[in-house]
Amino acid sequence: MKKVAVIGCGAYMDSGYGCPGEWRCLKAAALGEGSFDEPSQVTAFVKCECPGRTIVPNLGMAIKLSEIKPDLVYLSSCLANAKPGCPYGTAEEFSQILEEKTGLKVILGTHDYH
Ligand code: SF4
Repeated sequence: MKKVAVIGCGAYMDSGYGCPGEWRCLKAAALGEGSFDEPSQVTAFVKCECPGRTIVPNLGMAIKLSEIKPDLVYLSSCLANAKPGCPYGTAEEFSQILEEKTGLKVILGTHDYH
């Protein structure tokens, strides 16, 4: 079973639209649905915070403190597929920075639930 870290859009999560961080990413990971090709353990769940500069250090701290290096990092669907999009960067830009800084592969999006 893969170990995964999920990063959500904090600006969206804090708005509380009936999901962010509450179940969608977690359900998809648990059941191996959406972007997860098998049931996966979520070992870290990190909130991006505007303007996104903390995304790398916060993920790094979660990995360090949990003492679990994930196999993959997922950008949540609310981050990767945001419409209107994040004003500070694209999901591709965030994933490129994360991959460069952590050496971990980043998957864009977590689920297709509505
Ligand atoms: S920087 Fe973008 S992805 Fe990060 S919390 Fe703000 S709006 Fe969301």
